[in-house]
Amino acid sequence: MKKHDCKLYLILFIGYFFYQCQVTSHQFNTLPVESSSVQIPQPSKQHPMVDFQVIKAADWEVPLAGLLNLEDPQSKLANLKDKPEPISIYFYLIKHPKLGSYLIDSGIGESFTKGKEELLVSSIVASQMNFDKLKIFETTKNFLEKNKIDLKGIFFTHLHLDHVMGAYEVNRNVPFYVGQNEVSDKQFINLFVQSSTNRLLGENANLIELNFGNKGQGLSIIDFFGDQSLFIISVPGHTAGSLAFLIPSKDGGHLILGDTCHTRFGWLQNVIPGSFTSNPNLNRKSLDGLKSLVSSYKPKYIYPGHQERIVSDIK
Ligand SMILES: [Zn+2]
Repeated sequence: MKKHDCKLYLILFIGYFFYQCQVTSHQFNTLPVESSSVQIPQPSKQHPMVDFQVIKAADWEVPLAGLLNLEDPQSKLANLKDKPEPISIYFYLIKHPKLGSYLIDSGIGESFTKGKEELLVSSIVASQMNFDKLKIFETTKNFLEKNKIDLKGIFFTHLHLDHVMGAYEVNRNVPFYVGQNEVSDKQFINLFVQSSTNRLLGENANLIELNFGNKGQGLSIIDFFGDQSLFIISVPGHTAGSLAFLIPSKDGGHLILGDTCHTRFGWLQNVIPGSFTSNPNLNRKSLDGLKSLVSSYKPKYIYPGHQERIVSDIK
């Protein structure tokens, strides 16, 4: 090993232990919520249903080794190797009949359509994010304006950059709900992304961590509106505060996995993400929890974080 290599490793080693920081340095508030780990009831006629829409904001390409654990026996059986994998960036609209419109994740802001000069991310982040392959179909501001949506809140599956790229375009009074410990958790990698995440969330972001409490075994679930129209599920692992969502519907319900499972292969073969996940063991537990939820609730549509939905045939 060369002398300057040793120095670099020493700096990284020290950095790893001493320079861990939060994903954003913005202030946040904590909202204690009543969670339970009981089975989600099937929808009944007296409960309201929300309108639900999926919006594909962009197509993109990232390394498969980040999206999928290539060491998993199922990945090996399929002879999967690292390569650029086509993915999409989605966000979701929920329209409650009485309580208004909410998004899950924030899509992409206009500045990303304007080339490198106007990017809100730092140059080191931009160099790693493969923006040349980003093909944008819809910006968040345009979507909200053309549909005359008066937004009441955004729920974030988590705060990785590809999920917060439209947040800065939203009114500052709109609450940004995130999972437990999503902001307070500290990671070394955040040293490089914190300033970009800060800019993408925008100044004075109204950040609220949902505090599920410590329920022990099983998934922690909240009935967010209190009328069984939207269930938010704590699925730590990909990030500390990752969230999944179950939205009952007349045709059997929608389960949004977030990046607890990015890909169709990952869901169908039960393989967790690769290097993009911060805690693989916890991610495994959460994916197992979602699998068991699906076997009892049987939602019709399952949405991996970055690929097309799967129509479930579980009867
Ligand atoms: Zn993602």
